[in-house]
Amino acid sequence: MTVIAKVTSSDPRAPLSQLLTAPLGLDVWEVQPDHVVLRAAEAQVERLQQMGYGVELLHQTDTYLSTFATAAATEGYHSAETLEQDLRALAERLPEIAELHEIGRSVENRPIWALRLGDRRGTDHKVLFLGCHHAREWISVEVPYLLAEHLLGTADTDPVRGWLERGEIWVAPMVNPDGHEFTRTENRLWRKNRRRNNNGSAGVDPNRNYGYMWGTLNVSTSSHVPQDETYVGPRAFSEPEARAVRNLVARELFSGVLTYHSYSQLILFPWGYTSNPAVDPADRSDMEQLAGAMQRLIRGVHGVTYTPEQSSTLYPTAGDTTDWTYGEYDVPSFTIELRPRSQAEGGFILPSDQIQPTSEENLPAALEFIGHALDRNGGGP
Ligand SMILES: [Zn+2]
Repeated sequence: MTVIAKVTSSDPRAPLSQLLTAPLGLDVWEVQPDHVVLRAAEAQVERLQQMGYGVELLHQTDTYLSTFATAAATEGYHSAETLEQDLRALAERLPEIAELHEIGRSVENRPIWALRLGDRRGTDHKVLFLGCHHAREWISVEVPYLLAEHLLGTADTDPVRGWLERGEIWVAPMVNPDGHEFTRTENRLWRKNRRRNNNGSAGVDPNRNYGYMWGTLNVSTSSHVPQDETYVGPRAFSEPEARAVRNLVARELFSGVLTYHSYSQLILFPWGYTSNPAVDPADRSDMEQLAGAMQRLIRGVHGVTYTPEQSSTLYPTAGDTTDWTYGEYDVPSFTIELRPRSQAEGGFILPSDQIQPTSEENLPAALEFIGHALDRNGGGP
């Protein structure tokens, strides 16, 4: 039995930061200045209390699911199968500019799809959008999918026309189809892929499996314990889902990578593995400025705030996608944590009437990112 709890600290011997940097095997959902929301087994909750933390029980996990995971909250989201159908339909509608690529196969042999948008091949102006590394983050499928739909719908007007004439936009809305399917059929709060680990537990966190500074941390949010939610895997790129992205990136050499997650409404940029900022001052100011511009554009649509910050400020992670794309390829790399802001608003279970506004508010920021990546001098890394 697990519970969802709000953890606070008034004991200086047990600061909240320590909660994240200790290997406690917690499923950390949300980090606020004065509290952390997490899911934990009851024994873990007792341990936290013994360590000096204040623990307020928010929900039994079952109650949370019956409160939030209603029919109204699930209809309207893609499955792996309907996503494939819809991506195929998009590619068939405009075959001269859209092409569907299988970029790899998951642990359970599901195809991982990426839609390539652009008039021609051989350009060095390319940008990549990713979604759904984490199974339960369903909105992170819909935002990149609807971005692709929008780009195709406006392909004959500028600026999209110009981008597609001289560049390519790749969109892979569901990197982790096995996990996503598992959240639909078995466990709505599943996060990882569906690897069978050596100790009998299941799942590697695909967003801790990338090969830059992989495995350099062992904390709740980046763990070496196979049953933990953020298990980094036995080695870098051990997982076919991360390898599919790696191979695509290595082949196409994108000028920018943006990956969607949920939740918390954040715009995160490297590094995650260290609290030090990116060393190169030009890179740092470029990513900070772009994050600020995206924040303003998002807020301009429905007035909703997404906060820009360095990834490690949220919590430490080693082996995530953006540390790897920035560290290895030196290109602007962002993680956007989508709606909602908090667990009280549903957390991972975002009602499906929020798909449209979440997509709408992220569209201008995505277009800004494309323009930045495709128009910048030199294009390629
Ligand atoms: Zn995520």
